[in-house]
Amino acid sequence: MRPVDLIGKKRDGGEHTPAEIFWLVEAFTRGDLPDCQMSAWMMAALWRGLSGAETAALTEAMLRSGQVLDLSALPSAKVDKHSTGGVGDKTSLILAPVVAAAGLLVPMITGRGLAHTGGTLDKLEAIPGFNVNLSPEQFRRVLEQCGCAMISQSAEMVPADKKMYALRNLTATVESPSLICASIMSKKLAEGIDALVLDVKTGSGAFMQRQEQAEHLARMMVQTGQRMGKRVVALITDMDQPLGRMVGNSLEVLECVEILRGERRALSRDLRELCVELAAWMFCLGRRAPGLPDGKLLAEEMIDSGKALAKFREMIRLQGGDTAVLDQTPRLASARFKCEFKAAASGFVAGVQCRQAGLASLLLGGGRIQQDDIIDPLAGLELHKKIGDAVAVGESMATIYYNDPAKLPEACRLLETAYRVGPAPVTQKPALVKKVIGG
Ligand code: URA
Repeated sequence: MRPVDLIGKKRDGGEHTPAEIFWLVEAFTRGDLPDCQMSAWMMAALWRGLSGAETAALTEAMLRSGQVLDLSALPSAKVDKHSTGGVGDKTSLILAPVVAAAGLLVPMITGRGLAHTGGTLDKLEAIPGFNVNLSPEQFRRVLEQCGCAMISQSAEMVPADKKMYALRNLTATVESPSLICASIMSKKLAEGIDALVLDVKTGSGAFMQRQEQAEHLARMMVQTGQRMGKRVVALITDMDQPLGRMVGNSLEVLECVEILRGERRALSRDLRELCVELAAWMFCLGRRAPGLPDGKLLAEEMIDSGKALAKFREMIRLQGGDTAVLDQTPRLASARFKCEFKAAASGFVAGVQCRQAGLASLLLGGGRIQQDDIIDPLAGLELHKKIGDAVAVGESMATIYYNDPAKLPEACRLLETAYRVGPAPVTQKPALVKKVIGG
């Protein structure tokens, strides 16, 4: 099999056999297929699309590129959640301890920031010492001890996704539904889970900007999971503005700690609401709650009792992180410089170009432009206004946190294009959960 022929076949709209897809993924994982050829194939796949059978084969090839955990000896249900990626989307850091505190197991393999969206691994690494590179044995031990563990794809687990993920970020091939489906589902299926809740984002900060695209991706992922014998549900949720009030790695950890402490801030209301909803679905699929209302009550109880915060502390300690950040939260908002981004006009926030807000945080150092860029964990944005809020000229819309002053002007330019302020009050705010697929 010559790689160039396989690339040509996809470029010309042909359909691969499963054997061809397995061959490509195995050769790439071994290092026998160079980045340039995998990039060309992924671009062809993005343009031409992959059929259901091709997407299933790609998911399985990526899953089989490394070890698949067998957690069947552990008695509790194993449940996870994965998001297709957004701005300010930090639900995993809250959900894993909430769900583990109620007795389920949450084995989470997760990813870094992709394009303008943040990544759970980058957020976790904003906690000094936190180790996301556990071996499968260490991962299992943390899971057994505290009920949740969060790690990266590695040379041992889903290595194909680790390599393809990094390349997609550099080659504008993130947005392919089939590549997203295979990337997410291969990681999730390698975890040895029984059930999975998918948070499929739609809107200006999502990879699937239109709801029909998000629904198409959601159906593809639900079917892939169900074919592999898992209980799967997908929620289509809003990404027409950042989730919560913080964007940027350590700032997002700070917001998660606030929620887990039971603090209720107006701009974090959507974040708490979505976490409670997702946790409720995890409880239902994990057979821990008989229905959504009970699941929501259980999630609220885990937060309000402090049990979820205690779980988060335990997971951080077991993964080598400094738990003092939970008590000294100002450390998480200690960039050298701060600057207020002020409103140019009075009125009401009519819209936020969420992608631009994500890019502003990325440019300040919160994400990567090149594969080997070093993240500045302290860089990011604290939002003071969201859709529907009244604003007066000169009032702060957001605080910008940064360490490199050279990056500030471009970030401000992006924020200018991000916020849309209009004269009329906003009567309809975007619904947080737009649809449930597979429930
Ligand atoms: N999250 C993933 O893990 N992979 C993607 O491709 C997008 C979001």
